[in-house]
Amino acid sequence: MESLRYLEGVSTLELNSALCVGCNLCTQVCPHHVFEMADGKAEIVDIDACMECGACVNNCPVNAVSVHPGVG
Ligand code: SF4
Ligand code: SF4
Repeated sequence: MESLRYLEGVSTLELNSALCVGCNLCTQVCPHHVFEMADGKAEIVDIDACMECGACVNNCPVNAVSVHPGVG
């Protein structure tokens, strides 16, 4: 079954890899599997699946993730 998609190319999600400490929380809280861990850091693997819920932003301990709902 195809998963629900948000609009393509409009998510304001950004990840600052330099700040990421690899805690893995964003991959666990994201309901749409936008992140995966690679070499001890998070990376965005499916930005168009992001619905800008803010869960990753609220859980990242080092503010490596940002999103601005309503901009797109
Ligand atoms: S804002 Fe929500 S949907 Fe988007 S990456 Fe973060 S947790 Fe996932
Ligand atoms: S929650 Fe933040 S520090 Fe933790 S893996 Fe994700 S981006 Fe990196």
